[in-house]
Amino acid sequence: MTGDQLTVTSIVERAEKFHADREVVSRRSSGVTDRTTYGACARRARRLAGALSDLGVNEGDRVATLLWNQSEHLELYFAVPAMGAVIHTLNPRLFPDELAFIVEDAEDSVIVVDETLLEVFETFRSTYDFTHIIVVTHTGRAPAGTLDYESLVAGAEAADWPALDENSAAAMCYTSGTTGRPKGVVYSHRALVLHSLVAALPDQLAVSARDTVLPVVPMFHANAWGLPYAAALAGARLVLPGPRVDAESVLDLCSYEQVTMTAGVPTVWMAMLAALDNEPERWQLTELDRLIVGGSAVPRAMFEGFDRHGLTVVQAWGMTETAPLGAVCRLPSRLDQSNADEQYNYRARQGTATPLFHIRARDEDGNTIAWDDAAMGELEVRGPWVATGYHAGRGADSFTADGWFKTGDVVRIDPHGCIRICDRSKDLVKSGGEWISSVDLENKLMSHPAVSQAAVIAVPDNRWGERPLAVVARRPGTEVSADELRAHLAQEFAKWQLPDRFEFVDAIPCTATGKFKKTDLRTQFATV
Ligand code: ADP
Repeated sequence: MTGDQLTVTSIVERAEKFHADREVVSRRSSGVTDRTTYGACARRARRLAGALSDLGVNEGDRVATLLWNQSEHLELYFAVPAMGAVIHTLNPRLFPDELAFIVEDAEDSVIVVDETLLEVFETFRSTYDFTHIIVVTHTGRAPAGTLDYESLVAGAEAADWPALDENSAAAMCYTSGTTGRPKGVVYSHRALVLHSLVAALPDQLAVSARDTVLPVVPMFHANAWGLPYAAALAGARLVLPGPRVDAESVLDLCSYEQVTMTAGVPTVWMAMLAALDNEPERWQLTELDRLIVGGSAVPRAMFEGFDRHGLTVVQAWGMTETAPLGAVCRLPSRLDQSNADEQYNYRARQGTATPLFHIRARDEDGNTIAWDDAAMGELEVRGPWVATGYHAGRGADSFTADGWFKTGDVVRIDPHGCIRICDRSKDLVKSGGEWISSVDLENKLMSHPAVSQAAVIAVPDNRWGERPLAVVARRPGTEVSADELRAHLAQEFAKWQLPDRFEFVDAIPCTATGKFKKTDLRTQFATV
């Protein structure tokens, strides 16, 4: 065999040569829909790469993006890795100080910003010296001191793609940690190519040239679950929703663009289900074959709710550290004749590992647990698209000496290898697909003079998946109300990160090693 390198370039070239006429649709913040093709995106990517080289971007340099799901982002997904640089997608929902930290940590060179995100950009712009700021404009001109994306693409010579090592870096994304700072995950070309191939398999996300794919999951979050590359590889039509991902906007797009598959976190689909329940006749979703839902546990009610509308929800599990796809839950044929209850219970599991992806779980003593669906242990994974470390050597304790990544998800595994998340060892709350650090909230709460102990746990929430609940022990002789504590937290946390509920207790139960016994708190409060 020739031993050709597995690089993103081969995806870009395939899109250019074989899927040139396949449409790429972008809905702008104004509601206007722009239509282009893979061919045009790939050709423009060559000129974009030429422009970035002219600006001094070299192999290995990081190019940051602050963009929505839009065709320009796809052009950067193509151009930056294919020219040998590294695309670093920034999450505009992060705090200014987190964004400032991340761009510094990644040592980004150029940044490309959508004009609708300039306000976010301004909140951390002054903290870091980007070599160039490029702005994608839709209505006007790029502001003074920045370069206009369209003019750059129009004015540059098309680049030839260099030969690249498949193990070189292609992309980068940050994940929030349990405490402290976000950690960078770097994806190699090889990882992204193999991930795209596997994601496209029929029992995985099943992406084919006959599909119209709408990733609601943002392109700034774990590569939009790899869908842009998988779609480009397969030649699936791509519909990019831009900033408006409320239920009605997504349903309008699904219906008008005849979307066949879409993907996102449960919060989006909860709202969509409510809209469909309210107005079942409003949208024509006859082409919509499957909704891939992941990032948080999918409640059984969601499967049932969409089934009532003839729409199939498929649960997937993944992490930023795993590029992100690690498991998909497809009903196995042995359960075809089972009753609805058994089928729903199965579909509510996180699924079986994708091909080439290895799993095991170990209990607190380090013993590998049996696949008997009873024993519980922390899920550990390894495979061609699983990180073996974080950028700059951070978070080394997440990796075992024998090369496995510790996910922080506590699971049971059935005899067929299908996982079910039962708990989380990492101290995080996942609300609407975004992390809230319980440890950071606890530290801030405990900085209040009236608080002696504070523990924050995740409680299930129909709309957001999870919401933070704070359990607080007051210092003897002091008084403080939930509103006062909320105001105290609001000094450092965004409104959506503040606990909805506060429970006051005399003392918080602790483990032998002095850690808060969150399992007890969950049993006591999480279902109230
Ligand atoms: P993403 O949100 O892109 O999946 P993150 O790295 O932000 O990636 O979060 C990964 C974590 O999200 C997992 O470790 C797990 O705790 C949670 N998660 C992801 N998918 C699921 C799922 N299907 N069910 C339950 N939890 C999930």
